[in-house]
Amino acid sequence: MAKTRRTPDRLQSFNPRTGEVMRTIEATPVAEVAEVVTRARKVAPEWAAIPPQGRVRILREVRYRIGKKIDEIVDVVSAECGKPTVEALAHDTTPLPIMLAYLEHIAPRALRPDHPGRFLGPLTGTSGRVEWRPYGVVGCITPWNYPMLNSFAAFAPALFAGNTVVIKPSEVTPMCGEVLRDLLEPLPPGVATVIQGGRDVGAALVDAPCDKISFIGSPPTGRKICEAAAAHLTPVVMELGGKDAAIVCSDADVDKATSGLVWSAFFNAGQTCASVERVYVVESVADEFKSKFLEKLSHVRQGTPDSDVGPLTFKPQLDVVRKHVADAIDKGATVLAGGTEPSNEGGSLWFAPTVLENVTEDMDVVRHETFGPVVTITKVRDEQEAVRRANEEAVNLTASVWSKSKARAESLAADLEAGTITTNFHGETLAYPWSPWGGTGESGFGRLSGRYGIREFVMPVNVSRSSMPWLPRLWWYPYTDNTVQSVRSITELMSSPELAKKARAVKTLATSAVKTLKEKL
Ligand code: NAD
Repeated sequence: MAKTRRTPDRLQSFNPRTGEVMRTIEATPVAEVAEVVTRARKVAPEWAAIPPQGRVRILREVRYRIGKKIDEIVDVVSAECGKPTVEALAHDTTPLPIMLAYLEHIAPRALRPDHPGRFLGPLTGTSGRVEWRPYGVVGCITPWNYPMLNSFAAFAPALFAGNTVVIKPSEVTPMCGEVLRDLLEPLPPGVATVIQGGRDVGAALVDAPCDKISFIGSPPTGRKICEAAAAHLTPVVMELGGKDAAIVCSDADVDKATSGLVWSAFFNAGQTCASVERVYVVESVADEFKSKFLEKLSHVRQGTPDSDVGPLTFKPQLDVVRKHVADAIDKGATVLAGGTEPSNEGGSLWFAPTVLENVTEDMDVVRHETFGPVVTITKVRDEQEAVRRANEEAVNLTASVWSKSKARAESLAADLEAGTITTNFHGETLAYPWSPWGGTGESGFGRLSGRYGIREFVMPVNVSRSSMPWLPRLWWYPYTDNTVQSVRSITELMSSPELAKKARAVKTLATSAVKTLKEKL
C-alpha cells in the first residue's frame, strides 16, 4: 500500500493505526492561493463593518454546526490522527464549542474602544479613543497534532476581531481540513476559506501576502515563515514547539504527581507541544517517584481505538522518535520502559511509551523536541538545580511544578522560563480559552486564546480630536520667546519635586500660554 503522505497536487489521508490510505483529496493549486487571498480581502471591509455583536450572531452558527457533527468530527480525527476516541472527543472536539462560546461572550467587550487619555487628554485640549481595528486578511497555517483545536485557536479570535481568514491546515491530516471547511459553511462567502496543501501552498499564502500570519507549528518552519513575512513587513504570531519540563519537589504528593505526569507525557502519544518531555525529580523522592511512575505506566494500554495511547500520526515523526531513542541508548541512557515498536507491518506507526534515565545534555532527547511517547527522568539535588536545568537544557513552551506547598510552587514558578506555568497539573491549558497561549524564545511569541487572542488580531488606532478647535495649538508657528517659556514651564512643572516650584511653573505657564496664543498665525 502506498505510504506517500503528499504529492504536489493530491494529498493522501492515511490511517496510522493500519497504514491504510483512506482517501485522496485535491490540493489547492499554488497558483490559486493569491486569488483566494484577494477574494478574502474584498469581503474584509464588509465583515469588519459588522458590529462585534452581529459577528457573534453569525459565528454562533459555527458552534451549533459543531454540535450537530460531533460524531463525524470525532471519527475523522480519530481515524486520521490515530488518537484514541476519547482524545479525539475531549481534546479536539469538546474544546471547540467552549472556545467559541467564550469568544462570543468576551469579544464585544474586548473590542470596545479604550480611553487611556480620559484624564490627561483634557490638559492638552484634546480628547480621543483607541479603536481596535482588524488587520484585514489573516493567513492561518496549522499543524497536524490537534487539527481541529489548533486550527480554531489560530483563526477563531481573528474572525471575532473582524478579520477574514484563509486557513491552510496540515497536509498530513487533509480529511480534518475538509471537516473544517464544512464546519465553516455558515459564514458568508470569503470570510473563512480553507485551502489544502503542503509547504508550497503555505509559502504561497505567506507570500500572497496576507495582512497578518497566525502560525502554529515547528520552530524551523516558524523561522522560514518569519523570513518570508519580513519581505512584506507582515506581522506574525508564532506558536512553536517546546521540550517541556516538570519539576517534582521533595514535598510533592508522589502518588498524584505520577498519575498526572504519566498522562502529561503520553496523552496524544506525546505529540503535544505542551507534553512533558523532561521530568526533574528531587533526589529524596526520586526512587519512589520512579517506581510509582513505572507501575502506573504498566497499566496504560496501547493498540486499539479504545485504548489509552495511540500510534504516531506521521511517519517522519516516528523516525524522529526512533532516532532520539537510539541516540540516547548509544550515549549511555537506560531504558526503564518501552524503547521498542511492534513490527508496524503494513505501514502502521506504533511506538511503545518510553521512559529513559541517565540522560545527558549531549543527547537529542534532552535538547530537542521529540514530539512522541518518550519522557526522560532525571534525579536532581534540589529544586534550584531542577529549575536551572529546566531553563538551561532546552526550551519550555509550558512547565510545571509538583509540590504540596503553594508558596514553594509560586517561588519556583517565578524562576521558570515558559509561556505557561502550572502547579500540580500540566499541558491542558490550550483548551482553556481564558488563558493566554504562547511561548517565550524558541517556543514563539504573541498570544492566542480569549481576550489576548482577540487583541493579537487588532491594531490599536488612535482617534483624537482638538476639544477647542477655535483655538490655535500652543506649538504652532511662529516660535517666539513666549512659546519657549510656555514649553519650559510645562517641563519644570513635570520635573520638579518641589511644590513651590510647581506652583511658580503653573503661574508662568498661564501667562506665557495666553501671550503665545495671541501671537499664532
Ligand atoms: P510544521 O512546522 O512541519 O508544519 C506546520 C504547518 O506549516 C503545516 O501546515 C505545513 O504545511 C506548513 N508549512 C511547512 N513549511 C512551510 C513554509 N515554508 N511556509 C509556510 N507553511 C509551511 O509542524 P508540524 O509537524 O505540522 O507540527 C508539529 C510542530 O508544531 C511541533 O514542533 C509542535 O510543538 C508544534 N506545535 C505547537 C503548538 C503551539 O501552540 N505552540 C501547537 C501544536 C503544535
